[in-house]
Amino acid sequence: MHCANCNAALTEGTAVCPRCGQRVEDPFLGFSMAWYKFLINFALWASAAVGLIRGIRVMRGAAYGAYREDIFLLFPKLKVVSIGAGCVVMAVAFLAVVAAQKLRAMKKSGPMLLLLFCGLNFLAPVALLLLVPWATGGTVGPLDAMNGLTAVSLLESLLLFVINLIYFKKRAVLFRQGGH
Ligand SMILES: [Zn+2]
Repeated sequence: MHCANCNAALTEGTAVCPRCGQRVEDPFLGFSMAWYKFLINFALWASAAVGLIRGIRVMRGAAYGAYREDIFLLFPKLKVVSIGAGCVVMAVAFLAVVAAQKLRAMKKSGPMLLLLFCGLNFLAPVALLLLVPWATGGTVGPLDAMNGLTAVSLLESLLLFVINLIYFKKRAVLFRQGGH
């Protein structure tokens, strides 16, 4: 793209022409924003909904099936860990909604909150897996607590963190509005 005033070649995402100082009319020009739109219109809301349900399931010990009350009686610490982890998962779900709103408003905090969300989406289950052996006195190991689905979602969270890091780093110039 080129400056409308002096025709200098501009790098994509530039807000002001470095030669003449002319404001570039549309800083979105040259950027593909499809992923951004997908995130703020669908993906983050879906993540929040899934997170909310998952949080309630973790809290109630859904993974332990019909025996969850007996298991909780046997390992009282596991109940504490489950309730705590469930709360964290729901808080992370709420963060997805906040990140979507900040991204929509092009706030500088938007990409940061998104990365925080992705990071916590990865770290929270890892913390839970590591706390389960402690809570059960070693009866249940971290690998016993991890099923195939957990492994896939962990990998997915890590991948999303990297994708968003690269995507929003390239578009950092678009997210310059301060404030909270
Ligand atoms: Zn210019």
